[in-house]
Amino acid sequence: MIPKDHPRYDSLMAREKITEGVEKGITGIMGLIAQGRGEAFDYLIGEKTTQSALQAEKTAAAMLLLAEKPVISVNGNVAALVPSGIIELGRIVDAPLEVNIFYRTEERAEKITQHLHSHGAARIYTKRDAGIPGINHERGKVDSGGIFCADVVLVPLEDGDRCKALVDMGKTVITIDLNPLSRTAQTATLTIVDNITRAIPAISGFALELKNKKQDELHAIIREFDNKKNLAESIDGITAHLRHLTQQSPK
Ligand code: ATP
Repeated sequence: MIPKDHPRYDSLMAREKITEGVEKGITGIMGLIAQGRGEAFDYLIGEKTTQSALQAEKTAAAMLLLAEKPVISVNGNVAALVPSGIIELGRIVDAPLEVNIFYRTEERAEKITQHLHSHGAARIYTKRDAGIPGINHERGKVDSGGIFCADVVLVPLEDGDRCKALVDMGKTVITIDLNPLSRTAQTATLTIVDNITRAIPAISGFALELKNKKQDELHAIIREFDNKKNLAESIDGITAHLRHLTQQSPK
């Protein structure tokens, strides 16, 4: 049991959820490596949601609310870390979930689906009857009624190739990735550089706030957002945080 006042409480809880996910067969073993890489970047960011991330999260909420057919992609890490959060976001923005895993086995996909249902998920796309053009292997398969025909997809912790292929299909691709330098972060339409455990509740909060606004206001939020500039601010934020740390450290 991790005491709540432990200085690394959030990070240790996330580790516990991911290892539990592996034990339950929900998270793939490679998911541990992804989590470790994410943690390293979270350290560099200062383990907090930055102003630039908040701006991206607000824009993501506007994009999801304006979408005609939004879909939220769920992999093994997402299912282990934020099952209830992702279901709640889906409910707020009226976006079904789709289980979409990199190292796919039918057994693991089924376990993720069951896990999401046990947390209250209503609509989950599970078919694999369509292919993402340019991704010629198993991981290119998606549901013809889900990601394949979605106009806006939220693909947190995604792989770079698939992210690019979804953008090439003309979709609005929103990602959450702690590494602002990853191929996914660099190719998505909208990149949220934040921990998924903080980003999902933040997007949900903004979506609730924006839900009753006029469409024009939502379009204006999207128009004013510049992903390249926001990514550059995320990288600058890391540099500033490191400079702050070096100035604080004893001489
Ligand atoms: P790419 O293919 O996009 O260049 P990659 O090979 O590093 O990147 P993966 O290992 O497939 O990508 O994906 C994991 C990504 O998710 C990493 O960039 C990692 O920083 C990020 N990540 C891991 N855990 C979290 C988390 N809890 N919240 C947000 N991002 C995370």
